[in-house]
Amino acid sequence: MRKVLLVTGGSRGIGAATCILAAQKGWDVAVNYSANAQAANSVVQQIEAAGGRAISVQADVAHEGQVLAMFQKVRTELGPLQGLVNNAGVVDVSARLDEMSMARWRRMFDINVLGSMLCAREAILQMSTRHGGHGGSIVNLSSAAARLGSPGQYLDYAAAKGAIDSFTLGLAKEVAGEGIRVNAIRPGLIDTEIHASGGLPNRVKDLEHLVPAKRGGSAMEVAQAIVWLLSDEASYTTMSLVDVSGGR
Ligand code: NAP
Repeated sequence: MRKVLLVTGGSRGIGAATCILAAQKGWDVAVNYSANAQAANSVVQQIEAAGGRAISVQADVAHEGQVLAMFQKVRTELGPLQGLVNNAGVVDVSARLDEMSMARWRRMFDINVLGSMLCAREAILQMSTRHGGHGGSIVNLSSAAARLGSPGQYLDYAAAKGAIDSFTLGLAKEVAGEGIRVNAIRPGLIDTEIHASGGLPNRVKDLEHLVPAKRGGSAMEVAQAIVWLLSDEASYTTMSLVDVSGGR
């Protein structure tokens, strides 16, 4: 049976590296994106050129109707899911708490937290033996920010990632008897476009002296850990929060 994986935010950065590596390891991959169809199609083309199978699927993970339609499309075109990577995530520009708006916090939690919970709910309905599924693996993207707190920069993002850690621990126990493993990855400073989206395009170079390994990480270094957690090689690993952060 082919194994089907959905990666939210699979079109760029860590998500794109995860899609490409997972396809190399034999997964059929659904590459989700919210706005940049060209980037998602480019990932699909790279996978197909290497002999793999992939589709792109648009959905804003914070929008329930779009997420339900995405899961339906993936099931129809690729089959039932065995893997979900809750990777879609956003930061915002640097600010102190006393400068932040409710609208900013709502976006931060809608996408980073509720989007992950929503996609996990839909995945469990397909994967859980309780619902007639054959089990699977869910990997949530947290962040080292959940430990560091990100004061003066984006502690709303850090708090959202802290919620992802708690969500991972609870969900892992809730579905462990139903064939589903749930883990989180906490990347450190990784070289992707997310930093430019927060107004700090040089953030990795500027902060790498704070990393014990003295460098930022690559998206593929994070993808390696994600794809391992998805695989049967990690068959007894659940409820783990895995730091991929060069020691930071
Ligand atoms: P990125 O390069 O900015 O890519 C973000 C991806 O998420 C894009 O594919 C984007 O697609 C998608 N996306 C954004 N909002 C979405 C939404 N509402 N619905 C669906 N897709 C959406 O980010 P990244 O650096 O690879 O980060 C990936 C994950 O790792 C995030 O959860 C992030 O918080 C976490 N992380 C990153 C770092 C780091 O240093 N890079 C460190 C710790 C944790 P569109 O372009 O179509 O919007």
